[in-house]
Amino acid sequence: MPLSADRVPLATWPTPLEPAPRLSAALGLHPDDLWVKRDDLAGPAGGGNKIRKLERSGAEALAAGADVLLTSGAPQSNHARLSAAAAARLGLAATLVLEGTAPDGERGNLLLDRLLGADVVWAGEVDAAGLAAAVEEEAERLRGEGRRPHVVPFGGSSPTAALAYVDAAVEIEQQRPGTEHLVVALGSGGTTAGLVAGLGAERVLAVHTGAVADAEATVRGLLEGMGVEAGTLRLRLDQVGAGYAHLTEPVVAALRLAARTEGLGLDPTYTGRALAGLVAAVADGDVRRGERVVFLHSGGLPGLFGHPDAARLAG
Ligand SMILES: *Cc1c(COP(=O)(O)O)cnc(C)c1O
Repeated sequence: MPLSADRVPLATWPTPLEPAPRLSAALGLHPDDLWVKRDDLAGPAGGGNKIRKLERSGAEALAAGADVLLTSGAPQSNHARLSAAAAARLGLAATLVLEGTAPDGERGNLLLDRLLGADVVWAGEVDAAGLAAAVEEEAERLRGEGRRPHVVPFGGSSPTAALAYVDAAVEIEQQRPGTEHLVVALGSGGTTAGLVAGLGAERVLAVHTGAVADAEATVRGLLEGMGVEAGTLRLRLDQVGAGYAHLTEPVVAALRLAARTEGLGLDPTYTGRALAGLVAAVADGDVRRGERVVFLHSGGLPGLFGHPDAARLAG
């Protein structure tokens, strides 16, 4: 597939689609029902779904003549880590505005952020609006120093960046035509919006992680920006538990299951919730034996090594 001018290449496409017969059977499905789309293998520094979107926002930054990628996220943001990696690949600096305060000891994504040379700014305990304001403040400060920051939105999700997951939908349709359920973790919503635009809302089962306050409104807003009629979204809101940053028992079970059946490393925030959502969807009959299921492995493994409750996972 040729790259359009609005993308800079940051990974090798298409990502593989692999069978997961042991996991599939363990879920109560036919062994051939479940396949895994390996977007965790996409891109540098641990890889993950954000690299598809960064191919678009990186192109925008270069076109604008920027010299700094400026973005924001949670302390263990995979998007922030991959923005730092993308910036390095494009010869740009990176500034990451993160929620909260500096932890003692930088682990997981934060360790990689530092290794990749990013500047980290701690925004304190802020809501979404407060984080956006902290980004604007940092952009002003950088401009005052004569720098040219390019702001990449929270989670890398804008209507144009979400188009990257329309490309992923095309890959999936080529690799496994007629997939009935594409299971994806929903964070800032761009990945879900792109997949819905590419596959249709009825084929995308999105599992809310609690990263945004209103998952439905977030995805609808992105689809509207893309000029796509949304239809009825299939959102699972039952895996958030005590909140985005907290580990839940279904997620602990899902991480162990994926690891012990297929050797797959999932993360406690996103892909663990997505698999727990698939387990729940099989249990309540939303996904049935004999149906074609693709699980999007969207990456995030570095977050496991930065999660405060990671030790509970070993069991
Ligand atoms: C960010 C992220 C998601 C969710 O993607 P959005 O486009 O933000 O909804 C899923 N999985 C992982 C590992 C992520 O880092």
